[in-house]
Amino acid sequence: MDTRSNENIKALEPVFRFWGFSRITHHDMVGPGCVINSENLSTSYPHYGTLRFARDVSELICPEAHGPCQARQSWLYIDPSIQPEGQPLAWLEMSNHCRYPIITRTSDNDYHFWFDVDRTIRFVLNEEHLRHTAPLYVRLGINPHHLPRRMRDLAFHGMHTLRRLSHSNGSIGKGLATVDLWRGLIRHIVELRSDTKATPCWPDGKQYACTASHDLDTVDCFIKPKYLNQFRTIDDEMGMRTAWMVVTRNIKPGRLALDDLHAYGHEIGFHGTAHDHRLAFASPIVMARRVAEVKELISCYQTDGFRSPAYLRSLRLFRALDGVLAYDMSMHDAIEGVCRPSPANEGCGTCYPFFIRGTNLLEIPTTVPEDWQFDLMGIRDCNTILSVQKEKLARIKQRGGIANVLTHTEPAPSTKPYMVEAYRQLMAYMASDEQAWFATPGEINRWWRVRIKSIDRLWEQGIAYPPVSASVRDIFPATKRRTTVLQ
Ligand SMILES: [Zn+2]
Repeated sequence: MDTRSNENIKALEPVFRFWGFSRITHHDMVGPGCVINSENLSTSYPHYGTLRFARDVSELICPEAHGPCQARQSWLYIDPSIQPEGQPLAWLEMSNHCRYPIITRTSDNDYHFWFDVDRTIRFVLNEEHLRHTAPLYVRLGINPHHLPRRMRDLAFHGMHTLRRLSHSNGSIGKGLATVDLWRGLIRHIVELRSDTKATPCWPDGKQYACTASHDLDTVDCFIKPKYLNQFRTIDDEMGMRTAWMVVTRNIKPGRLALDDLHAYGHEIGFHGTAHDHRLAFASPIVMARRVAEVKELISCYQTDGFRSPAYLRSLRLFRALDGVLAYDMSMHDAIEGVCRPSPANEGCGTCYPFFIRGTNLLEIPTTVPEDWQFDLMGIRDCNTILSVQKEKLARIKQRGGIANVLTHTEPAPSTKPYMVEAYRQLMAYMASDEQAWFATPGEINRWWRVRIKSIDRLWEQGIAYPPVSASVRDIFPATKRRTTVLQ
């Protein structure tokens, strides 16, 4: 394998470390290549275009893991002034109709990557193409929860109708996760050409991880416990502990329910202070004050995770959370033409955890298509919802990442009977899959950090220590929990 990258940067080292290959494997597999340093390119922005693949490489990429990807769009750091050599296997087709080979194979059967893989992955992971600005209604000072539900629905669905009229309404669960695609391709080539295997990602040899959380946006689920309990009952019946993301303003009315969830081993996460959609764009002083409110959750429930209200996020917010909480779930892996106000075409390109740039905050992306997406697309039957979710689950399983399921304990649309039934069947499906490690987001966070430490040691000293292929019991000693179900 050969890459065009500055030798000092140690091309592909982050990808090899991600999979848990050793330094020796990296040394043996990666040639120095010609020197292209994307840091020196005239533009700090990568090129955007349509990815196209020759047949033999699209088989390597594995359609079961990514869906048909013969013509999908992505960002890539290339240097068009360089003429790639060898037989092209993949191209980037840009808006000026220029077709630039990005992967070639030479006569000595070496793969050459003609783009800066590491910087491209960094760019996509951190959604650097997005400008995280406050939506218009936030700038106008409107709290959507203060609007009558009918008016909110009208605005929400009106926006979707406009998108549909302009043929940009997108699709559910079919976005291309390019980070997983590039990493997966490299792993495949390494394993084909060497006798090494990547370090297992999950404990007990499980193929992928599953987790679920519930966003408690308003106080409704505490006033009418039915909204909360119908999900709780499913989780408990399946023997699955989940995360319940709560708004600090609602701690007081929700105290009893939260105490009870916590006593039964569920996790209580932070879902902002007021769900007014302003947190990510607040002034530094207001943001710090709001983030400090999580301390009550930390002291009562050992809260260590966060999802931003309406997924509205900013690097400033992540930095404010850094050192306070351990993980975040505000990003999706990939959504094409997402049908909601902001931001559009989002996605960190992976269904694996990663550290948000410049922080120690672990991102655990939300990856399974969720209630509001189906509602906006007008999908209101359980079977269709379930089949879309299972299709996505199958791809995540092939990639070996995390199926991260989300529901809302709100009157609509999440608690409609067909949505609740879809959730029940999805949970039963995951619970019956012996290849799935079902864990809370907090457990995934802790596991991933231990795995990274173990790989660091493999990289530095040539030997890994458990738990890289260990049992989950080695990491999380059994804790005593109440196990009967409250009615
Ligand atoms: Zn929410």
